[in-house]
Amino acid sequence: MAEPIDGSLLPDGAVLLDDDVVVGGVSLRALAEEFATPLFVYDEGTLRARCAEAAAAFDPGVAFASKSFLCAAMARLAHDEGLCVDVSTGGELDIAMRAGVPGSRIVLHGNNKSVDELASAIEVGVRRVVVDNFDEIGRLASLVGRRGRVDCLVRVTPGVEAHTHEFIRTGQEDSKFGFSIVSGDARRALELMKATPGLRVHGVHSHIGSQIFELDGYREAMAVVADFVRDDDFDELCVGGGLGVPYVAGERAPSIAQWAAGLRESARGHGVDPSVRLTAEPGRAIVAQAAVTLYRVGARKALEQRTYLAVDGGMSDNPRPVLYGSGYEAFDVARPLDQRPQPVRLVGKHCESGDVIIDEAWLPAATGVGDLVATPVTGAYGYSMASNYNRVPRPAVVFVNDGRARLVLRRETFDDLARLEA
Ligand SMILES: *Cc1c(COP(=O)(O)O)cnc(C)c1O
Repeated sequence: MAEPIDGSLLPDGAVLLDDDVVVGGVSLRALAEEFATPLFVYDEGTLRARCAEAAAAFDPGVAFASKSFLCAAMARLAHDEGLCVDVSTGGELDIAMRAGVPGSRIVLHGNNKSVDELASAIEVGVRRVVVDNFDEIGRLASLVGRRGRVDCLVRVTPGVEAHTHEFIRTGQEDSKFGFSIVSGDARRALELMKATPGLRVHGVHSHIGSQIFELDGYREAMAVVADFVRDDDFDELCVGGGLGVPYVAGERAPSIAQWAAGLRESARGHGVDPSVRLTAEPGRAIVAQAAVTLYRVGARKALEQRTYLAVDGGMSDNPRPVLYGSGYEAFDVARPLDQRPQPVRLVGKHCESGDVIIDEAWLPAATGVGDLVATPVTGAYGYSMASNYNRVPRPAVVFVNDGRARLVLRRETFDDLARLEA
C-alpha cells in the first residue's frame, strides 16, 4: 500500500484536499478544464522564493540558468528577483532580450558560440561571456577590435565530475566544455586573453555537473580552482549550477542557501580573497519543484505482467525518463489523500515502447480512464526539452499566483506545426 503523495514534492503552499489540489490558490481540476491537458502549471511564489534565495545567498552576478526553463515571463521574473539570466545560444539570448532583460544582466555560455551569437552578445553588452575554447578567443579578438570591450570569465574543467550521487575524477581532456587546468590549456587561455586588446578577464567559471545532492564535489572543485587562481588578480569566481532537487519521496538535497554557505566556507578555507565575488548559475534548483504537469488518462491496459495507463502527453513534454532514466511520482488530482495501492506503468501517446513517463507509478485503486493524473517536480528540463515528436503540439504553460492563473505560453496548434512548410 503506497502512501499518498508527499506534499513536499509539490510547489510551496500546495494544498491537498479530498477531491482536488490547490496550487498558488488555484484548483488544478479547474485549470485542466480551462486550459486542457497536458498542461504545465508553475507556482509563481515558489519561483520567486527560489530566485530571491539565490540572489541573497550568492554575490551580485548570480544567474538563472535559463536552459532549465525559459520563456519571456520566466526571464522577467528572474530579472525582477535580482538574478542575471544565463543563456547559451542565440535563441535563448533573443528571448531574454525580448523579455526586456538588459544586456548588462545577461551571461553568455556555450561551447560553440557562432560569430553571430558573439556579435549579438557584444552588441547588447552582455555582463559576461564565459569563454570555452581557443577558437572562441580568436573570434572574440577579431570582433572586439571593432566593437570595444568584452567582460569575460574563463571556463575551466577542474577534473571533478559529478555522477548523480557519486563523484569520480576523470581525465581532464575528456570533456567538450572548458579548458583543462591539468593540461595547461586553462593557463594558456588566460594568458592569451590577457594579451588580447578589448578582452577583460574577471575570473574563472567551473560547472561540475547536474542533479548533484552532495557538496563534496563542489568542495573538491573549489580546492582545484582556488589553487589555480591563487596568483591572479581576479574579482569573480563562478561555481556554475547543478544543485539537485528531490524528485521522489525520500530524496534529500541541500537548499540553495546551504549550497552557497558550503561553497563560501570552502572558498575561504582555500584562501580565496573575501573581496572576490562568489557567483553561481542554478537552473533546476530554481524551477523544478515549482511546477506540476497535468495529464488526462485515455487508456488502461491490464496485462498479466503489469497495467499500463496511457496519458495524453509523454516523452515529447518530458524526455528525462527516456534520456536519463529519471524517476518521478504521480498522483490522482481528484484523490490526492488516498492510499496508492495500484502499480501502473505510466506511458505517453507516442509511437514507441520507450515512451515511458514513470516505469512504476503508484496510484489510487480507482484511478483510470478519464482521470486527471499529475507528475510533480516537472519544472526543469521538461518544457525546455519538449519536442514535436509525432507532430504533437507542445502543451500550454500557466503561472498561478494568489488565486489567479495567467497563460505564459499558449498551447501549440496544428497551424504552428505547419508554419515551416516551404
Ligand atoms: C546546465 C548548466 C547550468 C544549470 O544546471 P542545473 O543543474 O539546472 O542547475 C549552469 N551552468 C552551466 C554552465 C550549465 O551548463
